[in-house]
Amino acid sequence: MTSAPRTPRPLLNRRLAEFGTTIFAEMSALALRTGAINLGQGFPDTDGPEEIREAAVRALRDGRGNQYPPGPGIPELRTAIAAHQQRGYGLAYDPDTEVLVTAGATEAIAASLLALVEPGDEVIALEPYYDSYAASIALAGGTRVPVTLRPKDGAFHLDLDELRDAVTDRTRLLLLNTPHNPTGTVLTRAELAEIAALAVERDLLVVTDEVYEHLVFDGEHVPLASFPGMRERTVTISSAGKTFSFTGWKVGWVTAAPELVTAVRSAKQFLTYVSAGPFQYAVAEALALPETYYTDLRDDLRAKRDLLAAGLTDAGFTVHRPAGTYFITTDIRPLGESDGFAFCRALPERTGVVAIPNAVFYDHRDEGAPFVRFAFCKRLSILEEAVVRLKSLAPARQE
Ligand SMILES: *Cc1c(COP(=O)(O)O)cnc(C)c1O
Repeated sequence: MTSAPRTPRPLLNRRLAEFGTTIFAEMSALALRTGAINLGQGFPDTDGPEEIREAAVRALRDGRGNQYPPGPGIPELRTAIAAHQQRGYGLAYDPDTEVLVTAGATEAIAASLLALVEPGDEVIALEPYYDSYAASIALAGGTRVPVTLRPKDGAFHLDLDELRDAVTDRTRLLLLNTPHNPTGTVLTRAELAEIAALAVERDLLVVTDEVYEHLVFDGEHVPLASFPGMRERTVTISSAGKTFSFTGWKVGWVTAAPELVTAVRSAKQFLTYVSAGPFQYAVAEALALPETYYTDLRDDLRAKRDLLAAGLTDAGFTVHRPAGTYFITTDIRPLGESDGFAFCRALPERTGVVAIPNAVFYDHRDEGAPFVRFAFCKRLSILEEAVVRLKSLAPARQE
């Protein structure tokens, strides 16, 4: 007797099945093929400070970090991270028990969710969201509950009532991101105070992704952990990638109360265990750069934001002016378009510029359809050329 042929099972497990290849791969390939300027993916086209690169070379040559560094991260870096939180925000963290170095913010997010979420738990995230959030929630077996940021008066805003209504008895965790990618929204002190009060009232954990903490042009960045009742329930995540323009180094970190750090470390130790040994030494030095480093970075990016925002406005887009991050979200409807996917697939041939359709950051794809994201972490000359190219959209509109 022969057994009936088995139905072939998909290779990819069902937790990940809905996540295809990222749009960034498709759009970057398109940029290469057409020679278009890539304002799609958000990485700087110039490296961070020379002396920090040299610090990495020195560490490597001196044999520091070439073998497995300590699981929580090298002490020098943990001390520098704690000092950074103290200096910038008045938040005191013990480098030994309340700081954890990770393989970028991405691993910190994944490890936090894997550690803190049980299958069936609901995780609230601000939509549109960074693409790893949905996948990490899924890997943890959680159910994502999006709360959508909506445009009003030239910027995207969180509806606090909607957030409040999204909390149920099954909500375990709020996954926040401020400054927010891709909208550039920076949650205000008043909004954060309300979110904090809600988290305390409903006894929620909060994971807050603050990788753009130093890229705020209007307003201020206030860590959620600094609000009453939040320090003990908040996992704060940041990274050297965006702050120091070394996205390839993948050095990130978590600051939180000891029990939370211990939980996150339990997951992290089986993901990468450790990473980026020599770079950890360099990032420790980067975190000790004078305040002028951060103000120069911010001023440089603010000028680039203003240049690209003006160019996009001239080209006919509605521009949602970002208060932070290095992204501008535009609305393509004034150009007579409504499908961001189709628009972005055609844009490289049409104008020689690559952008990203925000719909990929939404569960509610329809809500995200008319929005398109441009990155401005590029050399001024590149942005100027992009603006010239994008102008070709404007006459077409008036025909
Ligand atoms: C870039 C980015 C990350 C990833 O940071 P890495 O340190 O490169 O892992 C996480 N969250 C947001 C919102 C980002 O834009």
